[in-house]
Amino acid sequence: MATTLFKDFQFEAAHHLPHVPAGHKCGRLHGHSFLVRLEITGDVDAHTGWIMDFAELKAAFKPIYDRLDHYYLNDIPGLENPTSEVLAQWIWNQLKPTLPLLSEVMIKETCTAGCIYRG
Ligand SMILES: [Zn+2]
Repeated sequence: MATTLFKDFQFEAAHHLPHVPAGHKCGRLHGHSFLVRLEITGDVDAHTGWIMDFAELKAAFKPIYDRLDHYYLNDIPGLENPTSEVLAQWIWNQLKPTLPLLSEVMIKETCTAGCIYRG
């Protein structure tokens, strides 16, 4: 039976959104404490009792995390317009090849606003 596992990560980064209307607050340089929730979905192994070791999930995300944390997102190729939607898809595209069980990437840029991408 398929089960979903998730792990949350937090990183700090600056950005601005270049395509918003003139005067929009998101057009100004600002920062967020981004929350990234990675979900994987798969079968629970009968012997280990888990789908995957959380440490394996953390290790898979580490190189991506290191490109994001305390950076200016607009400088990263593919994130020239770093909305939550674009960021979620970008993380998916980076991670999916090494993490085939990836089933969802959730981004929250504030406590009350976020985005979910499922491939
Ligand atoms: Zn923002």
